[in-house]
Amino acid sequence: MMDTKSKELFEEAKRHIPGGVNSPVRAFGAVHKTPRFVASACGSHIVDVDGNEMIDYVGSFGPAILGHAHPRVVEKVVEACKDGLTFGAPTEREVRLAELIAELMPSMEVSRLVSSGTEAVMSAVRVARAFTGRDKVIKFRGCYHGHSDGLLVKAGSGAMASSVPDSAGVPLDYSKNTLVARYNDRASVEELFAQNPGGIAAVIIEPVAANMGVVLPEHGFLAFLRQITIKYGALLIFDEVITGFRLSLGGAQEYYRVTPDLTALGKIVGGGMPVGAYGGRREIMELVAPLGPVYQAGTLSGNPAATAAGLETLMILKEDPGIYERLSAKAGRIADAVREAARGSVCVNQAGSLLSVFFTDRQVADYESAITSDTRRYAEFFGHLLNQGVYTAPSQFEAMFVSDAHSEEDIAYTCRAVQKAAW
Ligand SMILES: *Cc1c(COP(=O)(O)O)cnc(C)c1O
Repeated sequence: MMDTKSKELFEEAKRHIPGGVNSPVRAFGAVHKTPRFVASACGSHIVDVDGNEMIDYVGSFGPAILGHAHPRVVEKVVEACKDGLTFGAPTEREVRLAELIAELMPSMEVSRLVSSGTEAVMSAVRVARAFTGRDKVIKFRGCYHGHSDGLLVKAGSGAMASSVPDSAGVPLDYSKNTLVARYNDRASVEELFAQNPGGIAAVIIEPVAANMGVVLPEHGFLAFLRQITIKYGALLIFDEVITGFRLSLGGAQEYYRVTPDLTALGKIVGGGMPVGAYGGRREIMELVAPLGPVYQAGTLSGNPAATAAGLETLMILKEDPGIYERLSAKAGRIADAVREAARGSVCVNQAGSLLSVFFTDRQVADYESAITSDTRRYAEFFGHLLNQGVYTAPSQFEAMFVSDAHSEEDIAYTCRAVQKAAW
């Protein structure tokens, strides 16, 4: 597979952009390769600047649940653009999107649109602190909640792959209120609550973790978090930036039947455009400006073109109740193919259309077990698939995303590619 043009562009990019990329994991550092510069994408396929066509399981790291450039979504965006790109005034689509979010995710009675997942989570935490009058937040090692200062503590994905779990440039004072528990470990949460009586504003979690590779919550773990937060008067925040509208139409909260106080959304909610959202019960969300004392604003929040993409994407998902079963079945076939083909130990974690392959003999249930994976073997696995035109997560600690656009042929081809990969 030729990658001459990608290599040239990457050299040029590195002169003007840190590491040549605008988000670290795109640099392919964890798999020791040059990133492919993308020329276009349609449905399940992506074409790079050298003309290589690949089956794409990155899906922009989450948004592309319908595949790329879904005609209905593109049409709505074009239509919206023709009417003006941004106004700094409210528009009808924002109302419709907030309405639809509340319908699909009833815990988000009132929501505020922002422009990224990072902003959504950061703002949800701010509201939780204001509502409880407390400062401390419990997060879980290996969960990623965007790159805001206070949450960049033992984060996953990009930070994990490059072995820099904490970021430079974050004053200790900014992260001292972030306490870190162990995923799926009830005792670690109980301990933090016991050590900080009356001090914990919220527990924040990825209800299915997807930034240390895919890690599922053990049976009853989310319900336990619901109970302990109620017991101590703290709020439960679900970061559903990946799981929202992906695990089911109502997200992980519907799938696991656990209702959080606040939810953060991103990725799918923007249908490929920059949209995030955070929301919850009216009494909590009415603390946000202009109604309340929690300040949060955005010049491009509720942007017309972005909102059009998100709204149409959610409508397509809502019209098609069979989609989640199809997605899960397709991901399941790939998971089975990997388990069958693997020489040596492998742990494949799957939740619906999310999937991760760990090269370890452990059951991966938290950060500690996730990092036992042999990342060198992962890099080889990635390379073999890429050579056969199958584009997967360029890091052990990112998920593989299956979309509705992946055809039977795509899945069959991918399963054969997995079998052929001599790893
Ligand atoms: C991607 C992600 C974020 C950050 O969203 P951005 O849009 O990249 O700022 C936050 N939380 C989770 C769980 C994510 O996967």
